[in-house]
Amino acid sequence: MMQENCWRPGTMVNAVRKDIFSVPSDIELDPGCRLLRKAGNTTLSSDGLLDEVLVLREDSAIELPESGPSSRSFIVSTELYDSIEDGDVGMFTGRGNVRVILSRRANHNTLLVTERCDNRCSFCSQPPKQNNDDWLLSQAAMALAAFGSEETVGISGGEPLLYGDAFVKFLDFVQKSSPKTDLHVLSNGRAFSDSSFAKKIGARASSNITFGIPLYASLGEVHDELVGAPGAFSDTVKGLINAGNAGIPIELRFIPTQMNLDEIVPTIEFVLRCLSNVIQISIMNLEPTGWARKNWSNLYCDPSIYARDLKRGVRMVRDAGLPVLLFNYPLCHLPEELRDAAVKSISDWKNFYPEECDDCVLKQSCSGYFSSSQGKFHESPRKIV
Ligand code: SF4
Repeated sequence: MMQENCWRPGTMVNAVRKDIFSVPSDIELDPGCRLLRKAGNTTLSSDGLLDEVLVLREDSAIELPESGPSSRSFIVSTELYDSIEDGDVGMFTGRGNVRVILSRRANHNTLLVTERCDNRCSFCSQPPKQNNDDWLLSQAAMALAAFGSEETVGISGGEPLLYGDAFVKFLDFVQKSSPKTDLHVLSNGRAFSDSSFAKKIGARASSNITFGIPLYASLGEVHDELVGAPGAFSDTVKGLINAGNAGIPIELRFIPTQMNLDEIVPTIEFVLRCLSNVIQISIMNLEPTGWARKNWSNLYCDPSIYARDLKRGVRMVRDAGLPVLLFNYPLCHLPEELRDAAVKSISDWKNFYPEECDDCVLKQSCSGYFSSSQGKFHESPRKIV
């Protein structure tokens, strides 16, 4: 039976794109994904992998049945209609709302496939749960097949690779049913310490399946403390080596915190010297969500404090001929010479720009802020020099 746990953290106030909507109280849909149809699709088909729901404006000229089973296939909501494209995918929570989880208007789509994890990162944005949530993986497979994106979709957790061979089947299904969809999988990489598993994934991973794997230090004790799991560093490093040897394209991630500030340069050096098949290094500003909020005062560090190491690290990666990107940094928080490495990385459903940004000449290219930073986690925009 499908559980009613959240698909992703709740919608943020003032976000660039709203993603969660109330479902009229007379609509009773079981929890799960459905294809959202609009634009005059009056004939609904259930031939596909997902059931379909027709979304109508309140002023629609289409006559709806007043009652009966077919009324379950209609939602009259002008707000939802105006916020979606035909063929978006909605997750009905069973609690009176629908979250648009795959949107053709989104700047980036990500699907959460489990909330279970074998790490306990002190800044985890999606604190792990123990419940069996296998349904998330099967729903994600159906959603991807029905959505048929020709862009990259993120797969996140929890730790997706805890599924083991079921995740291999998931990749096979998505590649077969939606061959133009590229996947970017966020993983702690520990499962790749099993070289035979890394080879299985490697046989499927090509340029259209990449893995984002974080390494938070070159020292085991620092990485293990940050991820709250003794032995994690050893597994992740073995995993990174096996993944590289298996031909899995790796985006290596690093999040600077108070606990690993001295490790920016040594970690980059370690990655450049010892790992293969790393196609990009991403350095990410902390997101004030989940456990990062309660640990914020012990974790967050203003980028100006580590700007010198950041510059050095970026230069090292560039000298090695690799792309290096800075995620989640307001441009005015970075030294000018690093701004060309920063990208608009925050998903629109959790992205916001405070009033001060309205007249900023950098706004078009700036990542802005996480909506969750509003309040005590907000670091104000700065004068651009
Ligand atoms: S003022 Fe706003 S838009 Fe401009 S750089 Fe800062 S955060 Fe970005």
